Amino acid sequence: MGRVKVLVVEDDASVADGIIDGLADAAFDVHHSSTGSAALADFETFAPDLVLLDLGLPDMDGTDVCRAIRKNSSVPIIVVSARGDEIDRVVSLEMGADDYVVKPFGMRELVARIRAVARRTAPSDLPAGGAERSYGPLSIDTRTQRVSLNGTDIHLTPTEFELLVYLTEDPGAVCRRSDILNDVWDTNWFGTTKTLDAHVAAIRKKLGSPGWIESVRGVGFRFGQPA
Ligand code: CA
Repeated sequence: MGRVKVLVVEDDASVADGIIDGLADAAFDVHHSSTGSAALADFETFAPDLVLLDLGLPDMDGTDVCRAIRKNSSVPIIVVSARGDEIDRVVSLEMGADDYVVKPFGMRELVARIRAVARRTAPSDLPAGGAERSYGPLSIDTRTQRVSLNGTDIHLTPTEFELLVYLTEDPGAVCRRSDILNDVWDTNWFGTTKTLDAHVAAIRKKLGSPGWIESVRGVGFRFGQPA
């Protein structure tokens, strides 16, 4: 695999410069867009492997940029925001973002998160062959990364997909939060646990029932067919 191409969407020049330098030092191929509309145009021409998206843009809200990208692409998106509040985080993740970082953040943390997201969304990450699994009406194909319910395709983001695959490895078994974060997010950063909850909520919604993923209070989650 060549250098990972990262589209940095950030209107604040000083913040953007710091991020661009840091990512270039970490051997990423970086392109910078300073508005939402430029980001959508650059997305087509630069064809990034990952998007780092500021929420506060001059011409449009970052969540709308996220939504627009998600219409046609499952490219990983990490939202960067000065707004640390819970609503933004949940809205971003519901819009299809894969992770969320709050300013100010360290370059080391950002690079680690980008690597983790890029790693888990790389196709080579998934086992080849014998890839179809079925759980009643739910079917998951890890080779084509397709999920269907009662024969209808369900669109999941790459992170939602990997989380669902992880939870369905051993139906009925309890998956501990810390294990999920280590394996799916490659991290045990405090705060990512909210990200986990948002992704579980998004999957439940897309599967049309909370019963597929049962919360085990204080421990984690358990996959099973809804009663
Ligand atoms: Ca901004």
